[in-house]
Amino acid sequence: MPDSPTNRFRDAAWLQNRIDLIIKNHFSDVAQGYPITVSFGIRAQYRFGTISAKGGKCFIRMNYLFTDPEVPDFVIDETLAHELVHYAHGFGSGLPRLYEHPHQGGVIDIEFAKRGLLGVHHQAEEWRKRNWETFYKSRRGVVAETPDSLDDSVVNRWDDFMNHPNRRTDDELLALFQDVQRRLGFPDTLEIQKVEWILATTRQKTLSYYYPRSKAVRLHGLLADRRAPESALIFELAYWIIRRNHSGQWERIQAVMTQKGLKKTAEEALAWREKSWDRFRNQYHPLNEL
Ligand SMILES: [Zn+2]
Repeated sequence: MPDSPTNRFRDAAWLQNRIDLIIKNHFSDVAQGYPITVSFGIRAQYRFGTISAKGGKCFIRMNYLFTDPEVPDFVIDETLAHELVHYAHGFGSGLPRLYEHPHQGGVIDIEFAKRGLLGVHHQAEEWRKRNWETFYKSRRGVVAETPDSLDDSVVNRWDDFMNHPNRRTDDELLALFQDVQRRLGFPDTLEIQKVEWILATTRQKTLSYYYPRSKAVRLHGLLADRRAPESALIFELAYWIIRRNHSGQWERIQAVMTQKGLKKTAEEALAWREKSWDRFRNQYHPLNEL
């Protein structure tokens, strides 16, 4: 398995690099089918990866929870390898189908053995067996840390909300964050290692939070709704990027935003927060009728 620093921010480019190495080391004999695009999709409890084809292209999507540094690289590698076995067998790749069903009679394990991937397979299985359930429960949507948030109906309502087609995706959030980082001149900082939605209770009114232990910025889940202006997201992200890298004083944060051409964005965001945020929450919060 390829080697690379574990604490890098995991994004689509990281995944692409990872899969390229796995192909080079373990699948170089497989015929070239559809070109592969790999990205992080939604959070899921049981699905680690999926492979599909559309318009002559192959799409591999990985569980969003794999962006978390607590999930070891070998778990991600093993999942990518699993999808590449499907690819080799003609699923999602446009190559001739070798089996009727993708998981028919142990065909994956046979292929893993043939390609020198059984070691990493067992390692990943072992990790999942020991850790996945606890990890998943601690992360599922990063539910607000209050007792009632552990209620399943809360999680289900937020899941429905987040999986609605008209939401900003995790990928979009990450791309926006990286864009704001570049714009502010802190492109490579490790001060913030994760950006995600927080599935807030109705009592949580703050638009974003910073968690020092996991170095995570969490935006209120309602900001995934496209009816919330993008300026609100940019402002919250810019705020934490500047605060973690430069200064915690509001005057200085403002000065940096102005200097980097974000003054109008900030004004728009602050006006929206002042005039519309309460109404927006009262109208659209998925937990409103609980
Ligand atoms: Zn599979």
